[in-house]
Amino acid sequence: MAAAPALKHWLTTLERVEKFVSPLYFTDCNLRGRLFGASCPVAALSSFLTPERLPYQEAVQRDFRPAQVGDSFGPTWWTCWFRVELTIPEAWVGQEVHLCWESDGEGLVWRDGEPVQGLTKEGEKTSYVLTDRLGERDPRSLTLYVEVACSGLLGAGKGSMIAAPDPEKMFQLSRAELAVFHRDVHMLLVDLELLLGIAKGLGKDNQRSFQALYTANQMVNVCDPAQPETFPVAQALASRFFGQHGGESQHTIHATGHCHIDTAWLWPFKETVRKCARSWVTALQLMERNPEFIFACSQAQQLEWVKSRYPGLYSRLQEFACRGQFVPVGGTWVEMDGNLPSGEAMVRQFLQGQNFFLQEFGKMCSEFWLPDTFGYSAQLPQIMHGCGIRRFLTQKLSWNLVNSFPHHTFFWEGLDGSRVLVHFPPGDSYGMQGSVEEVLKTVANNRDKGRANHSAFLFGFGDGGGGPTQTMLDRLKRLSNTDGLPRVQLSSPRQLFSALESDSEQLCTWVGELFLELHNGTYTTHAQIKKGNRECERILHDVELLSSLALARSAQFLYPAAQLQHLWRLLLLNQFHDVVTGSCIQMVAEEAMCHYEDIRSHGNTLLSAAAAALCAGEPGPEGLLIINTLPWKRTEVMALPKPGGAHSLGLTPSPGDSAQHGLCSCSSPHLAAAPAAPAACVRSARAPTDSASRPPPTKTDGSVTLDNGIIRVKLDPTGRLTSLVLVASGREAIAEGAVGNQFVLFDDVPLYWDAWDVMDYHLETRKPVLGQAGTLAVGTEGGLRGSAWFLLQISPNSRLSQEVVLDIGCPYVRFHTEVHWHEAHKFLKVEFPARVRSSQATYEIQFGHLQRPTHYNTSWDWARFEVWAHRWMDLSEHGFGLALLNDCKYGASVRGSILSLSLLRAPKAPDATADTGRHEFTYALMPHKGSFQDAGVIQAAYSLNFPLLALPAPSPAPATAWSAFSVSSPAVVLETVKQAESGPQRHSLVLRLYEAHGSHVDCWLHLSLPVQEAILCDLLERPDPAGHLTLRDNRLKLTFSPFQVLSLLLVLQPPPH
Ligand SMILES: [Zn+2]
Repeated sequence: MAAAPALKHWLTTLERVEKFVSPLYFTDCNLRGRLFGASCPVAALSSFLTPERLPYQEAVQRDFRPAQVGDSFGPTWWTCWFRVELTIPEAWVGQEVHLCWESDGEGLVWRDGEPVQGLTKEGEKTSYVLTDRLGERDPRSLTLYVEVACSGLLGAGKGSMIAAPDPEKMFQLSRAELAVFHRDVHMLLVDLELLLGIAKGLGKDNQRSFQALYTANQMVNVCDPAQPETFPVAQALASRFFGQHGGESQHTIHATGHCHIDTAWLWPFKETVRKCARSWVTALQLMERNPEFIFACSQAQQLEWVKSRYPGLYSRLQEFACRGQFVPVGGTWVEMDGNLPSGEAMVRQFLQGQNFFLQEFGKMCSEFWLPDTFGYSAQLPQIMHGCGIRRFLTQKLSWNLVNSFPHHTFFWEGLDGSRVLVHFPPGDSYGMQGSVEEVLKTVANNRDKGRANHSAFLFGFGDGGGGPTQTMLDRLKRLSNTDGLPRVQLSSPRQLFSALESDSEQLCTWVGELFLELHNGTYTTHAQIKKGNRECERILHDVELLSSLALARSAQFLYPAAQLQHLWRLLLLNQFHDVVTGSCIQMVAEEAMCHYEDIRSHGNTLLSAAAAALCAGEPGPEGLLIINTLPWKRTEVMALPKPGGAHSLGLTPSPGDSAQHGLCSCSSPHLAAAPAAPAACVRSARAPTDSASRPPPTKTDGSVTLDNGIIRVKLDPTGRLTSLVLVASGREAIAEGAVGNQFVLFDDVPLYWDAWDVMDYHLETRKPVLGQAGTLAVGTEGGLRGSAWFLLQISPNSRLSQEVVLDIGCPYVRFHTEVHWHEAHKFLKVEFPARVRSSQATYEIQFGHLQRPTHYNTSWDWARFEVWAHRWMDLSEHGFGLALLNDCKYGASVRGSILSLSLLRAPKAPDATADTGRHEFTYALMPHKGSFQDAGVIQAAYSLNFPLLALPAPSPAPATAWSAFSVSSPAVVLETVKQAESGPQRHSLVLRLYEAHGSHVDCWLHLSLPVQEAILCDLLERPDPAGHLTLRDNRLKLTFSPFQVLSLLLVLQPPPH
């Protein structure tokens, strides 16, 4: 007979239940202590250590030596292979038997030559199920291999997670034995923990909370851990509670298994390959045991790795994808950074990703997936649309330091007006565990209550992999429909978004970028990676353009499609959100630099090959091929190689006089200087000997003036810019009483995320770097180019030299900068106070630009004290402005009238060597009349980034200049020319153009290539059925809306043989 009901004390009742399930207290008599029954050691254990990441077949051939529990192995990044021979005692027939394995490092179990499960303490995977129920005739002896990587789920940081890895770390095997597992005890533990969570989560004001607590208490009353026959009564009590359903209006949580695996971060790329195998094989095993379990997996690159390294596992993944349990999502090659990659690179993430998913899994992804990326460009909605995607999931904006983002479910409208449906899982995480606390947070935290009644819930260990566990699934399945809690269903992202779409009338719209108010140092950290990124984006652009022209002109030329795909994939890999951002360990940064080196060297070889093909068969002298890879005419001073290894300056008009603007190709062995405009001149104010007798010289001693007839630049004796005048109007661009080109140094000590974060308070530590008078010297004396240079000691350890260069005909002055940088937690910027007043500054982004405030009115304004931009930024008032261009920088800000470019940081974690050493970069300043659009700032920034090419022509170069494409409107940029990925491939090109001014515009695209057919297509190069264009006099008419990106498929006539 049960005891009579009694009053219960809330806290003691709660703690009583907690003690009953505790892994720490009373395990001699509580339920947790009965989770495992009998145990026995493994029959034999042996191991060997290797610094390599060996394939299984090779590893098992090695010499294994006897090992035992308690052994240490290592060091960091090595691998210890264990051979585990085991014999299950006969007495265990009828029982569930586990191999219990606890070791530091990440383990992978191999059985019969195939990976079967990951084993990591951190990921709560410490047992491998040998059998659910040992049959009388089942074999009881078995040999397994366990491959243990000497690094943890989150690398091997010394002292803290993001500290640089400890190369000497040792690892230990602390448990390896067989044990009987009591599944019924496990299920009771799950129930009791959920009931405790409900009691605590709903609190003392809630009726349901007491029902949960008293149910749990009664379960403890009836359950005797030593007598399994008492368990069913306790189970029945739990079932009755969980079977009491909620009402129709209950919120629905869509629980999707997930495992965020950073493609490289606190571990090298090669370890990620193994992380994928460990995590995904575990997920597969869960799919087998739980047919309703759905697992979402992003990043084509990781799948491609597994395909080549673990083919058996990969074909099983494909099988489970057919069943709808393994769900590829994202559509991109990797989860790239959302700020720094160029527009074209973002398109290629999808092009490479979606084509891979289509080829390997039979369909493209319908959701874009970037749960962990540091901000999202305002162009992403349009790019998603063009790549067949209208849904987007992330949660990173929950990390905002200042402002809490007002939505979890909303429409996001991009720069061009494209709209996509966005969902942030309201639990603010992509690594849920299935606890009641998280489930309740998902409902309570939802900022769109009353508008959206569905939420995502991504569960599974993440960042370093790991993924879901059976316990998480048991919890979520138990919570499917319980009064007082949201409904929980195991869903795919597709199901979630369909539910959200079907009830979306009340959803709000957010316009423009999704700016993350944190991690703003990632625009600057690891300057060499940033430089590699910009440079390689340019190289691939140039190679594709030249190869396309060669394809059109030469019947013999083979477009290097496979090589280009390989090089693009390397670039896209480096655009992963912990690589291009500079937030990775040294080992990854070095690998990234190797990838860039590959792209540079192979890219240059491909450029030469295309140039050679363009020259072939033409009469004319051997020499240089001058190539303009931009779609407008250019006349620039360039350094041309002279015999004997020297260089001479040449004024090089871009070729293509017959067409309006030239894309390509003219030859001239030795260009003479041909100044058609006033020569750039250099005047040194140091010269006058009678200066002492003159009136007080404000600009005497050591200052230098450069003047090319367009702008006049005046530098003070330390290299600072005292005046920048637009000659025609006499308009001064530098603020009164101020100087530009002022280097400034800040203390840069964030709160935790060293490589990631620059905090607002760094601005309070601003210290101008002051040079010494007399260090400025004249470099190039004049004629085509004038320059001055100076040295600047930044600190006792760091120095800078700069050449300030003004070319004839050029609307901007360039600052070629070399820095030897040896600092800790300092931030170097350069400032230009402008004589311009505006509350908005403009920054280039992917395929366009946007405005951000120059003031700190609201918290949303000052949270953007450090922002990102691509090649240019501009501060304009009516009729006049000042633009700051760069060739490899991304961090920037404009406060008041001061344009500031972020140059170098010096974080120490996770890479203690980040940014230490020599750097070279160029920025440029362009004052202009009118708007930046009309003044050609966009074109100038392209010119700075895409210098004219002078390639040696191995055979006679074409005698006449030739232009392939030109566009009639300066608002439209022809960004990309490449061979089509598929279709009548050999002779189809894809052109990508965008409207860059922010205007509605009609324009003509002139083509001098033999085009048969022109069709509009999407970013994945799929023709628009209604997109056939009429070719008239080698011209195509195109219509653009502001910032619209258009792609064209051009079918070429085969070139004559
Ligand atoms: Zn990540």
